[in-house]
Amino acid sequence: MTGLFPLLLPGVLRGREKQNNERVQHNLDNAMTHLTFLGATGQVTGSCYLLDTGAFRLLLDCGQFQGSKETEKQNFADFGFNPADIDAVILSHAHLDHCGRLPKLVKEGFKGPVYLTQASFALVELMLRDAANLQLRDTEWENKRRERAGKKLLEPLFTLDDVEKLMVLRSPLAYDEETEILPGIGLSFHEAGHILGSAIVRLRINKDGRTRTLVFSGDLGNPESPLLRDPAVLTEADVLLLESTYGDRDHKPLSNTLDELRDTLREADRSGGNVIIPAFAVGRTQDLIYWLGKIKRQGGLPQQQIYLDSPMAISASKIYAEHVHLFNIDDPEFTRIASTGWEAWLPGLIFSETPEESMAINRIAGGVIIIAGSGMCTGGRIRHHLKYNLWRRNAHIIFSGYQAEGTLGRIIVDGKRTYVKILGAEINMAAQVHTLGALSAHADQSQLLKWANHFKSSRPRVYLIHGEKSAALSLQTCFRRMGWNVDVPKEGDRITL
Ligand code: ZN
Repeated sequence: MTGLFPLLLPGVLRGREKQNNERVQHNLDNAMTHLTFLGATGQVTGSCYLLDTGAFRLLLDCGQFQGSKETEKQNFADFGFNPADIDAVILSHAHLDHCGRLPKLVKEGFKGPVYLTQASFALVELMLRDAANLQLRDTEWENKRRERAGKKLLEPLFTLDDVEKLMVLRSPLAYDEETEILPGIGLSFHEAGHILGSAIVRLRINKDGRTRTLVFSGDLGNPESPLLRDPAVLTEADVLLLESTYGDRDHKPLSNTLDELRDTLREADRSGGNVIIPAFAVGRTQDLIYWLGKIKRQGGLPQQQIYLDSPMAISASKIYAEHVHLFNIDDPEFTRIASTGWEAWLPGLIFSETPEESMAINRIAGGVIIIAGSGMCTGGRIRHHLKYNLWRRNAHIIFSGYQAEGTLGRIIVDGKRTYVKILGAEINMAAQVHTLGALSAHADQSQLLKWANHFKSSRPRVYLIHGEKSAALSLQTCFRRMGWNVDVPKEGDRITL
């Protein structure tokens, strides 16, 4: 064969050389493990990271982008890889910005296992069924408009059918136990303390006799949260993916926040207005009910009726009550919610399940507490309650968590405008608005640094994810002051482990 070479034209030779070089590069690439950042970079939603060991491809989270219309368009874009090529998915927790594109992944060919914790097993079904119904409703509504305008009709991001197909792929794992999920790849989940079932993910990848450890913080909880255990302390990692939602600030002290909550409840009672709390159905709502029960026991809750106006929050609360063994609380007065339900802890709590029950609340002009989703007011029953209360001077709107850019919640919190449009009506923003920072389900700047500092001796390379750019950059500055090697990746960036 060598005798043929002199006959080859120089261009062909160069092509062959290039091919060989590419093959060498490909083999070298195969020898290494790569991680590609595909979401939650420079923002808090769309969590998704692709880990390619050469032999296997794993996806860490597959979340929805949430926020403005422009942001949410990204959910419909190509994944940037073939879903059928993914061997397994590892899910940190059941929030939609972490699991909300999983049904789309299945729709487009993914067939492998989805590893998650036992509590996430139940929650993820609740979240995704709800999301599928919302998708369907929104698409139908939009298509009516498009049909009238003679425009092309849209398809929902996924359907209930896709959710069903995903459900059979769920593979629950216990906390703190390592499982070899693929040859040479050990996975363990550790308490993240963020919502029920939330996990810090640790992957140990053994390749050619060398083990590399990747720790993905998931969403790290606020140790001040009353119900869940504190985030687990891990000490060894080569690479650490760390969330940075609150990378640029510390929460107000919890005691101040609870005082503010008590004062607001009293003030609303005096002025005769309603208290409206946009709440995240999973986690924050249960924390809030816990605190309201505490305040009631201390004699500081004037409102006799507390409406939980969210079918999803009601279902989530029931799932929480089934998992009291995962809680940080051994107060028997509280833990009996496992058998008697949440109303035993907070007398006056009313679960409002049907649309009729929800609409009846709209007729109450004052004197009650209404907890409704969604937490950032992007949809759900809260919009009706805002329509009926935001213009009232004596109403109080209490935000209990992060409001992403572009959401109605953020517009109300920013308070730069005098009115907003809700459900087709112009609503004057006259109500009093409060933000209870310490009820956040995320660790703040100091807590993030403290948690990461446990890795001090293994000195991992840190990548700050899941934070708006300013928050991530601010946290990066703190790390650099401590002499750490920390990057803020951009979408599409690829690193070698
Ligand atoms: Zn979360």
